[in-house]
Amino acid sequence: MMKEKITVFGSFAVDLMARTPHLPVPGETVKGSMFKMGPGGKGFNQCVAAKKAGANVTMITKLGRDTFANVALDTMTALDIPKDHIMFSEDVSTATALIMVDETTSQNEIVVTLGACETISKEDIEKVKNEIIESDYLLVQLEVNIDAVENVVKIAHENGVKVILNTAPARPIDEALFSMIDIITPNEVEAEILTGVHISDETKAQEACNIFFEKGVKNVVITLGSRGVFVATPDESKFIPAFKVNAIDTTGAGDAFNGGFCTALAEGKSIWEAAKFGNALAALSVTRLGTTTSMPTREEIDVLIK
Ligand code: ADP
Repeated sequence: MMKEKITVFGSFAVDLMARTPHLPVPGETVKGSMFKMGPGGKGFNQCVAAKKAGANVTMITKLGRDTFANVALDTMTALDIPKDHIMFSEDVSTATALIMVDETTSQNEIVVTLGACETISKEDIEKVKNEIIESDYLLVQLEVNIDAVENVVKIAHENGVKVILNTAPARPIDEALFSMIDIITPNEVEAEILTGVHISDETKAQEACNIFFEKGVKNVVITLGSRGVFVATPDESKFIPAFKVNAIDTTGAGDAFNGGFCTALAEGKSIWEAAKFGNALAALSVTRLGTTTSMPTREEIDVLIK
């Protein structure tokens, strides 16, 4: 099977999760009932989703010189993801997400510290530039310093590498960037922030897509949670429904979708088929706890799609 090369440029963060009988109020110390540490970060989650789905994928991210960096490196070794394009900060720590979960209500409080992931310099990018240029697809999110995102998108676009931008987490981006994007993949909240259109139905989804087209984006995929995705190309728009599953943890659903969507495109599938593949990967991931650990294998995806 033809497999084009994907480079994911984005964040890695260690998730540090504690469950407690109740969330502490300011000044309070509570006893946790369970602690779990694991790999996360939007970029890394998408890379793992793609890798487990069978993609030819590499990861570009920046870590600190600390124990948390090993969580990324060990996972990459275990999954056979190349580690040659990892950058290191000598003085800033690896990104972390401190997650507290109330075990009765499932409500959470999260503090994300991007650390090294926010210090990606022009010089860093210069060192990984060839890796980007030699790829067929660049999959990028907004969870690292925005000037780095703008820089890599420009490099990719100028060298004929197809750019997929997942606009998470929502934040303003330079308008000039839109015309360099082959496929933008916001969720409905991000689509509303970027276009001003509240996506209440398919007509509104098309309206938001038209605004992206006017900005210069070539294709639009809006993820709509348990409903599925709305895909718009310049010639045709279609709603691709989600797979019906028993969802227990939707954290990282968007990451699962993006990793899967890009994997399928790199196998030469159409944007419609790729959206279905992304939906399948994401549906399987929401039936399990966790983010990277919940990403399904290719066999599981193929069984669901049939
Ligand atoms: P994000 O996690 O970025 O907010 P969404 O909530 O839009 O993204 O979810 C991304 C994709 O994950 C959806 O388009 C869909 O394919 C899948 N998904 C999310 N929630 C469910 C669910 N409850 N059942 C099946 N698929 C789901």
